[in-house]
Amino acid sequence: MKIADYEIFTIETGYISLDGGAMFGVVPKTLWQKTNPADEQNRIRLALRTLIIRNDERVILVDAGVGQKLNEKLSQIYNVDHSQYELFRQLAQKGIDPAMITDVIVTHLHFDHIGGGTYYDNGALKLTFPNATYHVQGEQWHWANHPSEKDRASYILENFQPILDAGKLHELPGPMELFPGIELLVMYGHTHGMQLPKISDDQATLLYCADLIPTASHIPLPYIMAYDNNPMVTLEEKKRLLPRAADGNWILVFEHDPFRAAGTIELTDKGYHLKDEINL
Ligand SMILES: [Zn+2]
Repeated sequence: MKIADYEIFTIETGYISLDGGAMFGVVPKTLWQKTNPADEQNRIRLALRTLIIRNDERVILVDAGVGQKLNEKLSQIYNVDHSQYELFRQLAQKGIDPAMITDVIVTHLHFDHIGGGTYYDNGALKLTFPNATYHVQGEQWHWANHPSEKDRASYILENFQPILDAGKLHELPGPMELFPGIELLVMYGHTHGMQLPKISDDQATLLYCADLIPTASHIPLPYIMAYDNNPMVTLEEKKRLLPRAADGNWILVFEHDPFRAAGTIELTDKGYHLKDEINL
């Protein structure tokens, strides 16, 4: 689709599976398994959906998927699956060479969002997008380097240290307009300083929801991940954003939804829900 002078489309980069209980927090399994069936290890399948925002000047990638660096054991734990989709392959299919990416907007530095930003080339750790500036909130960068015991497992140094070493890190000071028409909203519930790109013109608005609303099943207010560091803050953030998204008919992109890439939402007597599924 087109917003302002940007061409916008999603890029699928593979799947992982995470514990369904942790993904749905206080919501009972009898409810969530209707839409997100669990495997024999109680894991549910999750997409790793990134976004391209492109105009004549820039090719911007939002997040980079899990990548190929996880060891055998972790790949099994997270059921990493690149059989159908893989970042390099899907980019090539769209005619995009990694060297063409000018900017990577990193929503946050959890391994399933930035793992694809680096790769091993004959044992040497390299940036996947050598010409790109990697935009990360400064607070998130600091948190990633000093995580809590609760979320330490999600931050793997080899995923982000090379960005700093290569001089490609752009630390951002808070919410801002990064490029014309591309605003960054900053959230604190999931982790400290997670940024959500919001692209708009006077016709349409698109919000990449990252882990604030990871799947369409997470639209209703109480559907909050147990992974979140500050679930009550997530609740406040959803209460602030969802009315604006419903009223403005925003297109929400769901990074982790294995079935629905994007959609608009509506408020019914049962709360907020998906209105129309949208194919970008
Ligand atoms: Zn996350």
